[in-house]
Amino acid sequence: MGNIRIKEGTPDERHLNFWHKLYFPEIIKGMMFSIKHVFRKQVTLEYPEVKPELGPEFRGRPVLVEEAGQERCVACGLCARACPPLAISMQAAETPDQKERYPARFEIDMLRCIYCGLCEEVCPEEAIVMSEEYDLTFHTRENAIMGKDRLLVPKEKLKPRLDWLQKFRNPDFGTVWNHQPANNTHSVRDRTRHQH
Ligand code: SF4
Ligand code: SF4
Repeated sequence: MGNIRIKEGTPDERHLNFWHKLYFPEIIKGMMFSIKHVFRKQVTLEYPEVKPELGPEFRGRPVLVEEAGQERCVACGLCARACPPLAISMQAAETPDQKERYPARFEIDMLRCIYCGLCEEVCPEEAIVMSEEYDLTFHTRENAIMGKDRLLVPKEKLKPRLDWLQKFRNPDFGTVWNHQPANNTHSVRDRTRHQH
């Protein structure tokens, strides 16, 4: 069939030969291309009925880890301090438990959150982690402010992310100095290496 030539002196006009004028070869070529893709592995999903498997490395909405019926969080405030858009606010209170402090109020404004993961990165207790949840919708601005009732997630449900953090976050922890966990029971606890 040969390449389509541009007619001299008329740059926008194409010179079509007999086969080009028939159009059939091009139609068949297009159909062959479509048929070839029918037998290829599907890469599209029927979202939202079928959700993608994102894996533990995905950073969805941040949540609080619930352990033995209460939050791990000791209300140190580091996450709120590190959060670039100031999405986190909390009110610390005392508790007779070993951890001494807990967040009486903990809120994340999901209209501000940019899913950066810095709160998770700085938390010494692995008390706030990024979940796999990403499809959030809100009808009002108030509804986008999540309190403990919506932030707390049992640690069993967060195990893939906690395991992933154990493997990839700060792998040198405790290897370059003689870390004594007993000296600091609730600000630098390497809990992920020993329990889940
Ligand atoms: S993920 Fe980033 S923006 Fe969102 S609450 Fe954590 S630190 Fe703030
Ligand atoms: S950094 Fe961790 S322990 Fe400290 S207030 Fe935030 S979630 Fe709680």
